Amino acid sequence: MSNEIFPFKIGKLECMAVSDGIHIYTPPTFPPPATLLFANAPRERLEQVLREHNLQPEQWVEWISPYICVVINTGEHRVLVDTGADGLAPNTGKLLQNLKALEIAPEDIDTVILTHGHPDHIGGNTDSEGKPTFPNARYVMWQDEWDFWTSEQAELKLDEHVREVLLKFARKNLPPIQAQLDLIDHETEIVPGIQAIAAPGHTPGHMALAISSGEEQLLCISDTVLHPIHLEQPEWYAAVDLVPEQVIVTRRRLLNRAATEKSLVLAFHFPFPGLGHVVQKGEGWQWQPIETIG
Ligand SMILES: [Zn+2]
Repeated sequence: MSNEIFPFKIGKLECMAVSDGIHIYTPPTFPPPATLLFANAPRERLEQVLREHNLQPEQWVEWISPYICVVINTGEHRVLVDTGADGLAPNTGKLLQNLKALEIAPEDIDTVILTHGHPDHIGGNTDSEGKPTFPNARYVMWQDEWDFWTSEQAELKLDEHVREVLLKFARKNLPPIQAQLDLIDHETEIVPGIQAIAAPGHTPGHMALAISSGEEQLLCISDTVLHPIHLEQPEWYAAVDLVPEQVIVTRRRLLNRAATEKSLVLAFHFPFPGLGHVVQKGEGWQWQPIETIG
């Protein structure tokens, strides 16, 4: 099986995790992974937790993150969740070729759900001519998220060293989809079986999704957590989390829901295909990736 395409089922829904590629986060462009991912972690405790995860604090200099999109065929709708990171790094922009391998043309997608406005989630919204990549799709985004990235709010709030690249991607990939855009401001059903969940914190209008059919459910939690350690230490936010206090509240709500409802969970930056389960562990939670070989 391809290591960039992973098919699975949620009840009657045919789902696929599709990789857009990977990116290696490393200095000097980024802070060291532990600083990037666990910005407020107390140093001693952080080193202890890293060692428990077989990471040597001094030697952990690269965080290799996949970018994972999801395709859902509901029978009635062909839905794409996030459009990848085209143009962000040398190893990204593979979404379309992976869709092609699945015999899915851009025209076949009728709904594109954007979980948030970071470059690695909207990078494939438009083609090289600046036109919407998915010409027949309704693009769905949370109202607060759209407002943030298309107003001066982003400029005021973003750190100087990331502002330029984030705004460049937003300006290239958001205005051209406006004619196909559907903004939502409450937890509505986007298409039958796919429910929007407010998940603010990573960004102001960050959105999660509950995808369900029959008794089965997939929670797409997008960037609510970026690393499995965030489940165990939900109060350790990342340097890229824009509203840290909200991240912590959102994490607790979604992780508790995932554990209670025993949902399958997809975390966009976890090792491909990003699927697993969340189980309660002490005060926090623990990640159990699904078995993908067999
Ligand atoms: Zn992301």
